[in-house]
Amino acid sequence: MRFDELNLPECLLQGIAGAGYEQCTPIQEQSLPLTLIGKDVAGRGQTGTGKTAAFLIALFNRLLTNPAAAGQPRALILAPTRELAVQIEHDALLLGGACGFSIQAVYGGVDYNRQREALRAGVDVIVATPGRLIDYLKQKVCTLKAIEVLVIDEADRMFDLGFIADLRYILRLLPPFDKRQNLLFSATLNQRVMELAYEFMNEPVKVTVGGEHLTADNIEEVLYHVSSQEKFPLLLGLLRTEDMKRVMIFVNTKREGERLQALMTANNCSSRFLSGDVAQEKRLRIMRQFKEGRLSILIATDVASRGLHIDDVSHVINYDLPEDCEDYVHRIGRTARVGATGTAISLADENGVLSLEAIEAYIGHPIPTVWAEDSLFVTDFKPAPQKSRNHPQNVSHRTGRPIKKRGSRRR
Ligand code: AMP
Repeated sequence: MRFDELNLPECLLQGIAGAGYEQCTPIQEQSLPLTLIGKDVAGRGQTGTGKTAAFLIALFNRLLTNPAAAGQPRALILAPTRELAVQIEHDALLLGGACGFSIQAVYGGVDYNRQREALRAGVDVIVATPGRLIDYLKQKVCTLKAIEVLVIDEADRMFDLGFIADLRYILRLLPPFDKRQNLLFSATLNQRVMELAYEFMNEPVKVTVGGEHLTADNIEEVLYHVSSQEKFPLLLGLLRTEDMKRVMIFVNTKREGERLQALMTANNCSSRFLSGDVAQEKRLRIMRQFKEGRLSILIATDVASRGLHIDDVSHVINYDLPEDCEDYVHRIGRTARVGATGTAISLADENGVLSLEAIEAYIGHPIPTVWAEDSLFVTDFKPAPQKSRNHPQNVSHRTGRPIKKRGSRRR
């Protein structure tokens, strides 16, 4: 189905053409005929299927066809991570830019006053993570009484990240569910998500794309059985031999990520590490570098596994197999987005292998096992520099000279 068959307002068609979209993706083809006539939809699609545009087009169409007084926000999109909120805002500006709506992302870590002032000045569409939005709502910076469209993206992640109480708090401040359109999207629609859907939505139609296949067919999955000591030598060998344009390497913990990045640096592999503990400005900078191709290897915890679309990720590597089987689907979904192909490599060591059975049961197929040739393991790699336990705190690791305390400088 083409977008120009959908009888959309002209400015929205302009935005869609500007984004370079002509044909609907399957999730758009299935959900738009319902959402454009005002139905609530709970959608599940394979990752990277175009669900963001699916809900944004429905949302803008609704706002354009029901003109209302400007002043208070008319649409609210809730997302679980800051990166995702930034990305949705970006897509919303792209698709809705020509329609004259003001769109504001609201998320923690940065721009506290700027976001508050923007909300106070009046916006049409808010894209928010729950915490910061609640903060502003408690300060009465804006109200949600005029919300006509609610979108909950990555709803299952909201549960995982413990946002459910925050979510309920926000939902209680909206007009009654039958006075607004409700769209819920998630890469997985499990029972908990559907309970939320039935509680806060108006008899939603369930739309699932890709049948029971949770992983995209165009991802080549491979698995290596290794010991934990062999993981880095194999990773280095794979990075050197396979043609990897843009790689995301997933680890389960911050500690493992830091350890891996130190090893990569010691072996002249330029990479950056992204975890929830990294300051927000830096998180955004690293994501920008990776998206723009100035950084080709990103090591990350699951903070980066959901929803982000980064073009041309050729390889996803599970340096640690995830403990949660849904995370496996999300992680490998960072590659092979919208019709492209990609490779997902998993390294199963003695710990990770314990999650393998559950992952394979969840995705419904075994991950093909490959036995690595001995020559693929790089054995002459350099160890990461040891952090000395006795190293005095106030001595620079770089220069070995004492670090002056703040305020001790002569003026
Ligand atoms: P999402 O599943 O929302 O993360 O979208 C994945 C990617 O698909 C994004 O990079 C979008 O720009 C792209 N996309 C969405 N809809 C279309 C479409 N109809 N045609 C081509 N690309 C699309």
